[in-house]
Parts: sequence; structure tokens; C-alpha cells
Amino acid sequence: MQSSTNQRLWSTKAKTLDPYVPGEQPKHDNLCKLNTNENPFPPSPKVSQAIEEVLVNQATALRLYPEPESDKLRDTLAKTYGLQREQVFVGNGSDEVLALVFACFFMQGDGKLASAKPLFTPDISYSFYPVYGMTFDVERKVIPLADDFSVNVDDYIHADEDCGGIIIANPNAPTGLLMSLADIETLCNARPDSVVVIDEAYIDFAVVEGKSGLKVGSAVNLIEKYDNLVVTQTFSKSRSLAGLRVGMAFANPSLIEALTRMKNSFNSYPLDRLAQAGAIASLEDSDYFSHVCQQVIRLRDELVQALTLLEFKVLESHANFVFVKPPTSIVEGNSEQLASVLREQGIIVRYFNKPRISDYLRITIGTKEQNDRLLESLQALSKSQQKSEENTETSKMTNNTTNKRDDLRFFLKCYNANTGKSKTYRFDNQDALAEFAKKANSKGLTIVDTHITFLGVELLFAPISEEDSVITATDINFAEDGSYCLNEWAKSFN
Ligand code: PMP
Repeated sequence: MQSSTNQRLWSTKAKTLDPYVPGEQPKHDNLCKLNTNENPFPPSPKVSQAIEEVLVNQATALRLYPEPESDKLRDTLAKTYGLQREQVFVGNGSDEVLALVFACFFMQGDGKLASAKPLFTPDISYSFYPVYGMTFDVERKVIPLADDFSVNVDDYIHADEDCGGIIIANPNAPTGLLMSLADIETLCNARPDSVVVIDEAYIDFAVVEGKSGLKVGSAVNLIEKYDNLVVTQTFSKSRSLAGLRVGMAFANPSLIEALTRMKNSFNSYPLDRLAQAGAIASLEDSDYFSHVCQQVIRLRDELVQALTLLEFKVLESHANFVFVKPPTSIVEGNSEQLASVLREQGIIVRYFNKPRISDYLRITIGTKEQNDRLLESLQALSKSQQKSEENTETSKMTNNTTNKRDDLRFFLKCYNANTGKSKTYRFDNQDALAEFAKKANSKGLTIVDTHITFLGVELLFAPISEEDSVITATDINFAEDGSYCLNEWAKSFN
């Protein structure tokens, strides 16, 4: 096939779009994936049972189109949230629901609703909003969050411009902070002629109440009171179904009708048979759902505590992630560098190179094992930084004689990008290490970092897997030119 960068056949829109870039979905399983806010626990076992039941019936399973309006799923959602089917809309992930929301309520140039009035949205929020803004020609008025990253509702009420709509994530992403229901009511009251969208992708990780699926903090019940309110949610986070792609909106029936019209002008069957069956089964297993949410909240609280002890600044999270600013004792507080050091150790977190938040990292809550692995790495980094500062001091004091000391050991951590594995080697002198590093580099292996032990204290990053080991000079009978090590290395990855 001829590859071409020729865009002459593209529409102007396709040329000018600046698409959303999702977090990395790595190819290796052994990476500790804390970057895209997926749930670390599997979905309810009833979900796969329900999907298998659909597949068993070969005659209908995948041959026939699915039910276009997903009525059974909408009925189950309505029952779960104490609503009517007409107040519920479903789509292929809440991203698709949000796209339709932009097209229905914010899109401009129609000469009627919202024409030339900008959409009000926080400066720091879900990065898909600006992309949809561009896709649907929605002018935006970006309203800065307060210094503590909270939403100042007054800014939305007293802005000079006419308001063409409001969209806010609650809990907000990537901060994790929660707005009160009173603030949401204030917005709905103050802007009765605009649609107010509250994106509740993470709301189930806010304070949990009972087994019904209703959460303190959710604005879902307010749709009965405000005909201009749309609340969106997703099965991707709290229900561990990011791979199934199911999202929903709750609103007054007339807003739902607009969404349905838009959907049927774009794709009449956004949810396939498997997604509809799986989502229904997930809703029906409310005990499992509550249990998973509670586990994630408990793990979040533990992680917050541990990170605080490591002197991270941690924003109060109501989501399944934490938004943190590292202390200067870890990679000099440089978040981007910390993200890349962690990546080299097989741990992926999310860094945003954006104004106001470039000092922060967003870390998804993992399983206990994943969180421990992260913490071990951070602890080791913190200690190694402190030690290397001490070593620098000592080496200054001893007039640069450190290389000659007997009690020094040198470590080298290598990462093989093809396998995702890393291994740490230890050397008795710096020249040997340097030689090895040179050879390893020429073989395409990435040198991650070097460490020095000092006065019997060995500083080492946390191993990235059980198989990781420190190979001492005696273990590997280190040859002068490093060749033996290199052969060992090659063998270990065969
Ligand atoms: N809203 C927010 C704030 C999000 O972080 C996400 C996840 N990236 C979504 C919506 C979309 O989630 P999904 O399409 O998986 O339902």
C-alpha cells in the first residue's frame, strides 16, 4: 500500500482537528499500569456469564443487530437510580455520550440555542472537552480553577459573557476534587437557559452510601428538579468495564430525546449485544459493585497516607486516582522525570505537560500489590536521592577519592524494551561498570540508572519483577572487558 502524507482529500475539519491522546495502553503484561484510571479489580463474574449466554445462542448472538435504543439496559439503569427509562440515555462509553451532548446542546452556528455563546468550562479538567469543542465548533470560555484547584461557582454565575452551556467533571479530573451538590444547584438555577453538564465518571468513588448504587455527591437525583441538568456516568471505572464501552446520561426526557435524535443521526446501534447484556448483569450485581468501590476507596486512603509520609503533596481525592506533587527529595521534585524513571522501572503513571499542573502526577489506585510496588520504588528513589546527596557531600570532603574506596559497589539497572524486563547488575569497580554499559548500549539495551553503595548501605531501585536479582561480581565472574556479563544478559532474555 502506498503510504502518503498527502492530505488533499481531507476535509478542512479533519485537517484542523487536534485529537485527544489517550494514556498509554502498553503491550507487556508485567507493567504496573497506573495511568488510565481503570479499575484494578475484575468486573462482576456475572458479566462474563451474561456475555457467554448471549454467545451460546448462535442463531441470534451476533447475526442480528442489537436492540437500537438499549431499552432493557435503560430500564435496568432507571430501576437502579430510581428514574424512568425516558430519563436515561446510553452510549458507547461516556466519551461518545459527551460527544453527542456537545453536538446536541453546545454546538454553535445553528442561529438558535447557544449560538455564539461560549461554553463555560474549567481550565483544568478532562482533556477531551477542548477536543470536542474543536470537533463541534463550540467556542469555549475557560474559567480558571481557584489556586487550590477548587471550582469557584461565582465565576460561572457572574461572568460577563452570555453562557452557551457549562461542563464540569465532578469529581474533577485530574484533580479528584469534589464539588458540592449545593454548588451544582446554584449553577442550574443561575443559568436556566443553558444546559449544565456534570460529568460523573468517578462519582462512585466519592462517599459510598448503602447498596442501591446511589452515592452521596451524585447529582443524578437533581435531574427531577432541574430540566437543564445532564449528568453523565460510565461503566469504565467503578464497574471495571472500560473494555466493554458503556456510558450513560441522565436528564429530563426532552434532553434525552435530543440525544436520541442525535445518536440516530450518527449511529443507531452504538451498544452491541454483548455490551448491553454485560452492563445489565453488572447493574444486577450491586453487592459486588459496592464491595469493589469500597476496596478501591480503602486502597486509595492507604496510598494517600503512604504518599503523604513520603512528603508528597496529595490533593483530596474522591476518585480512583490521586493527583500528587512529588517532594524535592525525589528526582528533585521534577514530575516529568519521576514519571519517566518510574516508567523505566515498569510503573506507568500519567504526567500532563500543561500550565499549572506540570508539577503534578496523576496516579491510578491499583491493587495492594501494585500500590506497594509503586511505594517501594518511590521509597528507594527518595533514599537514593538523599544518599547521593550525602555521597556528594562526602566525596567533596574526601577530596574526590570515592572511586578508590573498598566499600563502594556499583550497580547498573538495564531495561529491555522488547520484553519489558529489567535486571540489575552489581560491579566491584566503576571502570568495569562503565565498560559493561558501553557494550550493553551497543546491543540496544537501555541503561536505566546507576547506584553506588556507601559504607555497606546498598541503594537500589525496587526490582520490577520477582525474577529480578542482583548479580554480584562473584556470581558472574566479571571479565575485564564486560563480555561475560553481556552473554549472561543475552541468555537471561532468550
Ligand atoms: N469523563 C472523564 C472525566 C474521564 O476521565 C473519562 C475517562 N477517560 C471519561 C469521561 C470517559 O470514560 P469512558 O468513555 O470510558 O466512559
